[in-house]
Amino acid sequence: MSKRKIIIEPDPILRKVSEPLEKVDNELRKLMDDMLETMYSAPGIGLAAVQIGILKRLIVIDISKGEEKKKNPLFLINPIITSRSKDTSIYEEGCLSIPGHFAEIERPAQCHINFLDYTGKQKQLKADGLLSTCIQHEIDHLDGKLFIDYLSKLKKNMIIKKLLKQKKTQDKIVL
Ligand code: ZN
Repeated sequence: MSKRKIIIEPDPILRKVSEPLEKVDNELRKLMDDMLETMYSAPGIGLAAVQIGILKRLIVIDISKGEEKKKNPLFLINPIITSRSKDTSIYEEGCLSIPGHFAEIERPAQCHINFLDYTGKQKQLKADGLLSTCIQHEIDHLDGKLFIDYLSKLKKNMIIKKLLKQKKTQDKIVL
């Protein structure tokens, strides 16, 4: 496994729509392992392939953070949301591509998805709570959407401006 570089907003690639995968093979599993390592070391609870510059419909998630620390990774290949609940929930969301910024986002509380798992098997999952929010956040990435898109234009632009400033500062101190 090897760690990959996470792409930070603003970057045009984060706004592109990712392509479905045609087959699940060892090469793809290696990529998923890399994504998982990158996510764990960040640390984060979800990562979409586009965040490491690969425009494929591929997500890794592990919400089992906290006391127990037992790893429980979830690999989602070509995930499709088949239904969303009418009731909603609000979580404070962050994003590995938007470091240091958080905002409360309202989303459907539950969702059903179809996807292929690590072995390429067709699976279904009913998610609620944090997992539901996380899945929706990551699938948004596959469609070129970020959580800041749910905020007012003013708030969104303020965050992008700050990220741009941080990027410029970082560029200056690279030796
Ligand atoms: Zn994100």
